[in-house]
Amino acid sequence: MSKRNPAVRPIPEPPPAPEPLAVPVLDSHTHLDLQEVDVAAALTAAAAVGVTRVVQVGIDVPSSRWGAEIAAEHDAVFATVALHPNEAPRLADLDAALAEIDELAALPHVRGIGETGLDYFRTEPEGRAAQERSFRAHIEIAKRHGKALVIHDRDAHDDVLRVLAEEGAPERVVFHCFSGGPELAKACAEHGYVMSFAGTVTFKTAEPLREAARIAPAELILVETDGPFLTPMPYRGRPNAPYLIPITVRALAEVRGDDLDTLCASIWANGERIFGTPL
Ligand SMILES: [Zn+2]
Repeated sequence: MSKRNPAVRPIPEPPPAPEPLAVPVLDSHTHLDLQEVDVAAALTAAAAVGVTRVVQVGIDVPSSRWGAEIAAEHDAVFATVALHPNEAPRLADLDAALAEIDELAALPHVRGIGETGLDYFRTEPEGRAAQERSFRAHIEIAKRHGKALVIHDRDAHDDVLRVLAEEGAPERVVFHCFSGGPELAKACAEHGYVMSFAGTVTFKTAEPLREAARIAPAELILVETDGPFLTPMPYRGRPNAPYLIPITVRALAEVRGDDLDTLCASIWANGERIFGTPL
């Protein structure tokens, strides 16, 4: 019988390591700064199962700066920098923060601008003008620096596509944690936008997402953890991290009827096309 203090929330145990992949892949979107483990340990655990590169994603100025620093220290890490769409409307001085992102964007280990975009789930209508202004500014920064644009789109598919069309999309665009159905997948395929699939493809209710995964062209697919969030089944609710990518890639291969090694090889090639190679 346990007599635990109900006020102390236990930290859920990390899931066990999955079987290693034969062909390496990258985790195209993770937040190492929000995970319990230190960076070196996270990279070692990931590499042990075939996840030999991770893209560390910034959500504000401090996390973007931190990401740029660890990317400079570790060959296996690329950074992206941005103000998260839920963060932008809360900033007292959005322009000053954007100027700092612009400065970080010039660094050689920074390979993308993101996550930016639109989130109509968490941001109330009164915050949406600032959110859209921030998104437009990030698009401009990505184009000027020739970096990939990493998009956060939550319940805002149509407006994300509209803003991209109005601004003129950068050459390389990634829809992080792709959350659309077949219709959005078709629109992305038409424009050459990359769809990055997360642990959500394993969720029971995600049938439209799996339909999208089936029709996504192989050259437009990435995989990500978005760790510590969105842990794939059967570990939902426990902390996510790059070493869990094999679960999502295997699920994706099964949904698509792809050979696992072939899918991994194309994910790797897509990652290099979008984010480049180590310096
Ligand atoms: Zn994220």
